[in-house]
Amino acid sequence: MALRNVRVVEDPILRKKAKIVNKIDDKIKDLLEDMKDTMYKTQGVGLAANQIGILKRLVTIDVNDEHGLLKLINPEILEIKGEQVGPEGCLSIPETQGFVKRPEYVKFKYTDIDGNEQIIEATELLAVCICHEIDHLNGILFTDRALVGEEAEKYERLYNTENRA
Ligand SMILES: [Zn+2]
Repeated sequence: MALRNVRVVEDPILRKKAKIVNKIDDKIKDLLEDMKDTMYKTQGVGLAANQIGILKRLVTIDVNDEHGLLKLINPEILEIKGEQVGPEGCLSIPETQGFVKRPEYVKFKYTDIDGNEQIIEATELLAVCICHEIDHLNGILFTDRALVGEEAEKYERLYNTENRA
């Protein structure tokens, strides 16, 4: 098990576009293992390679659903539908939350560690997470998309009400 340092805001690597992975060798597999370890250790639900300072299109996700741990190579969105708004945070932006509008349904493809192409139809948190992580690969942070002003306040009120016991 090898933990990597998670880069935080102001680190320019978070603003760079990650490159396509052309060859899945042991180095890539080790990297995905380290990303998984780092993600679990920091209690994240997703991690993109930029966040550990590597500009490759690699993502790990585990939103505690039926898919379990996902190791994604070159993930790409194929189709989106609908809309959902929810609070998001990011391991690279400590102690910050914001409401972000994301698709309700996301169909995406990726290459698995055996080199096979896979397709997943995601909803709920997985749909949010895949968008958040692919944004990272493109140098975009959730704070770029977070709602502001009245719209943000509206969702803050809604969210508070929903969670009041
Ligand atoms: Zn993030």
